[in-house]
Amino acid sequence: VDDIELNKNITLNDIFISVKTTKHYQYTRLPIILKTWFQLAKEQTWFFTDTETKQHQNQTNGHMVNTNCSASHQRKHLCCKMSVEYDRFLESGKKWFCHFDDDNYVNVPRLVSVLQTYKHQEDWYLGRTSVYEPVKIYKKPTNKLMFSFWFATGGAGFCISRSLALKMLPVASGGRFISICEGIRLPDDVSVGFIIEHLMKKNLTLVPEFHSHLEQMKLLPPETFRDQISFSYSKAKDEWNVVNVPGFDTRYDPTRFLSLHCFLFPHFKFCPR
Ligand code: UDP
Ligand code: MN
Repeated sequence: VDDIELNKNITLNDIFISVKTTKHYQYTRLPIILKTWFQLAKEQTWFFTDTETKQHQNQTNGHMVNTNCSASHQRKHLCCKMSVEYDRFLESGKKWFCHFDDDNYVNVPRLVSVLQTYKHQEDWYLGRTSVYEPVKIYKKPTNKLMFSFWFATGGAGFCISRSLALKMLPVASGGRFISICEGIRLPDDVSVGFIIEHLMKKNLTLVPEFHSHLEQMKLLPPETFRDQISFSYSKAKDEWNVVNVPGFDTRYDPTRFLSLHCFLFPHFKFCPR
């Protein structure tokens, strides 16, 4: 029976794309996503937020999920959102769970083609690390190293196969993920790494095509944009950390995502021709 499954390639429809967002960014970050890459994955992308807005429900065909988690950057509330994202993925029946932040640009065709090279029936945790060594947990009061683990940076995006997500079910489903976060007192993405690497004993597979703003975005060569899965941006004081891409004026497109989108998909209506 499985032979048929194995030969069938993954399509966009097999992927559950979740984006963590918040009411604080609904009129800044969200519109950029809705205008660009969301248009290529409307049916597959879901936004996990902390508010209810008619306008965005209409724009996304009801794909805004009000998690009822608090609108704050505190660990507990970010873990609350991740918990809802994971539960919704399980319910969706899809083969891959891919999480992103709302300051990510997702190169949808590339996400699909990379996932096609892995089997969803196997246990896969795909992403990018942003630290040079694993997280180390020490026993108190002796300070003896108990264990260490790697995690994929949430702000770069990561994907988990259904097989692995199902194995996490007893420890992570139905809000149990929040208890894990609180138990180890680590952020949501680190807690995902803890569950997968430490509890499930499955290793993170490094996929360097995921990118967060912990990297210098301008170092990515335009010739490689098509091969990348995700991009990001950030602003510290007056400095933007953004992709170096030709296109719109920086006053109109400070994040560079509109220009990036036109670089990748020049046929879009809003792109100059
Ligand atoms: N976020 C949130 N609630 C908040 C602040 C941020 O859900 O109160 C989300 C935000 O939408 C984004 C992620 O958390 O998807 C990371 O936020 P941000 O980029 O502001 O911070 P970073 O951790 O990257 O510095
Ligand atoms: Mn960010």
